[in-house]
Amino acid sequence: MNIDTKCVHGNNEQFKTDNTGSISFPIYQSATFAHPALGQSTGYDYSRSQNPTREHLEKLVAALESGHDAVAYSTGMAAVSALMEIFSPNDHIIASDDLYGGSIRLFNKISEKNGLKFNYVDTSNIPAIKNLINKNTKAIFVETPTNPMMNVTDLKEVSKLAKEYNLLLIVDNTFLSPYFQKPIELGADIVLHSGTKFLGGHNDTLAGFLVLANEELTEKIKFISKTTGAVLSPFDSWLIIRGIKTLSIRMRQQEQNSLKLADYLKNHSKVKKVFYVGLKDHPSYEVSIKQTTGFGSMIGFEVDSEETVKHILSNISIIKYAESLGGVESLITYPMTQTHADLTPEERENRGINEKFLRFSVGIENVDDLIEDLQYALGE
Ligand SMILES: *Cc1c(COP(=O)(O)O)cnc(C)c1O
Repeated sequence: MNIDTKCVHGNNEQFKTDNTGSISFPIYQSATFAHPALGQSTGYDYSRSQNPTREHLEKLVAALESGHDAVAYSTGMAAVSALMEIFSPNDHIIASDDLYGGSIRLFNKISEKNGLKFNYVDTSNIPAIKNLINKNTKAIFVETPTNPMMNVTDLKEVSKLAKEYNLLLIVDNTFLSPYFQKPIELGADIVLHSGTKFLGGHNDTLAGFLVLANEELTEKIKFISKTTGAVLSPFDSWLIIRGIKTLSIRMRQQEQNSLKLADYLKNHSKVKKVFYVGLKDHPSYEVSIKQTTGFGSMIGFEVDSEETVKHILSNISIIKYAESLGGVESLITYPMTQTHADLTPEERENRGINEKFLRFSVGIENVDDLIEDLQYALGE
């Protein structure tokens, strides 16, 4: 079945909890479930362990990602936090050096305190990853394309390395979604999502996912999730199910808009650099076309001065100056003071994030309107 159809119908299994013919999956707004008799269960006991609406969403996301199963969390960070619980003190994780700011904050401020060790490296450089592997290394944590510089890691290559050293390969697939990239098919063991972004798609719901490639990991993660408890509510699960129904058409429209906008920005005199994987001169273009079916809709760009940044952020009108990404509404973020504010100036500088750098999440609006909005905001 094509992913367009899967987004709407999942694996097209009959809803096992419902015989009304309901087209929309019901919201089971119940904390607990009655047992028919001693030693019997309907399959549901208590919603922290499992809830039918959340389960339906989890099966859907697992199907889209070609995973064995998935767990839905209240936020993307709740998903990463739960994931860190599979590790023990002194375990070593090698991570991309250009990660989502919240993931870096979690690793440095909380996971390190709990005894985990991290090294950051450009994961598009496979020998550099190999150099960092030691006897305590347990996992490679990759974000591709990275946030916000859009560096791409060759997933097949990194998965070969992970298998050779018996390491877990974890991929944050938030930026492309399963519509454009399926890391498990390329050898990943765990896929992570901020469902707040493309999966939900409407800037109205927080959610997170871990997709597991096999039964053993599923058991581990489900045990941690019911124990630590940051699972997704029935209503929010339903909102994400509804969001995913239009994932395909949103992703296509957002990408089409992005290709045009990246071109527009590239030719603008006040724009100095454009980071979009869909531009042929992006260093990651070749790897990208090998392992994805699209470039997504995240554009990083650097303008000529901080003054221009200020002018843009005060004068955009259809495009909003706001954190987050992946929704139908176009948003511009200033990583310096928003997503990457907690990094040290040096960490930011190493990643190329400076006072002239902006991140653009392109929505589904008409592209001519977006260009007009930018034209005005850029001051021409
Ligand atoms: C937003 C984001 C997260 C965190 O997800 P939340 O839903 O905001 O908690 C993790 N990784 C990436 C790439 C993100 O963009």
